[in-house]
Amino acid sequence: MSNKGILIVVSGPSGSGKGTLLQGLMQGNERIKYSVSATTRSPREGEVNGKNYFFVTREEFQQQIQSGGMLEFATYCGNYYGTPRRYVYDNLEAGYDVILEIDVAGATKLMEQGEPAVYIFIMPPSMQELKKRLVGRNTETNEVIEKRLNAAREEIAAAGRYNYIVVNDVIDDAIDKLKAIILCQKCKTVNMKYMIKEVLTDA
Ligand code: ADP
Ligand code: 5GP
Repeated sequence: MSNKGILIVVSGPSGSGKGTLLQGLMQGNERIKYSVSATTRSPREGEVNGKNYFFVTREEFQQQIQSGGMLEFATYCGNYYGTPRRYVYDNLEAGYDVILEIDVAGATKLMEQGEPAVYIFIMPPSMQELKKRLVGRNTETNEVIEKRLNAAREEIAAAGRYNYIVVNDVIDDAIDKLKAIILCQKCKTVNMKYMIKEVLTDA
């Protein structure tokens, strides 16, 4: 009897701390797989192709859309970002939990498609703190930071669509909240039905 994994969709403004929290969440947890997205944006210093993203051309990205290879995709600040479908479903079938770190537009598409998942929004404590973190990360030009802060306002306005909102104030507290949410989701009847048969078969 196979126990399917759960899909965990995480969104939040650029700089809210998604990467930081997910790294903490996954540390030492081999049951969780991180879905590596494809993007047309250029790699940041230190980013590795196939680990942080699959860095592709616009043509390659469009080809993947046309062949049905993307579970969802969106354009964010002028670049394409998308989730390769195969990796997600293969790992869910194999019993792993899979994390998608995607923007609000992509997550909204999945909600509209009725994709079973727990949808979590990472909220910065304030806009000032968000700006401070984006500037402090030192990975984008001022112009790109401004674009991302504008996108952040729209994203925060859409946070009400998500199942959970986690404020990333103290990192360890936020990671604990993520762990608690995932635990709840895994115990939901819809995700535990396989146990009914399994225990009865065993009897
Ligand atoms: P995202 O993945 O959402 O774009 P990052 O994880 O890259 O965000 O975090 C943005 C910056 O903020 C990084 O420099 C990170 O070290 C810092 N950061 C993340 N969480 C916190 C926090 N709770 N308090 C202070 N700084 C944080
Ligand atoms: P960044 O350029 O900072 O890595 O990502 C910018 C935004 O794109 C973030 O909100 C991030 O979550 C989102 N993103 C990353 N991968 C995907 C994806 O596969 N699909 C969608 N829709 N958004 C993504």
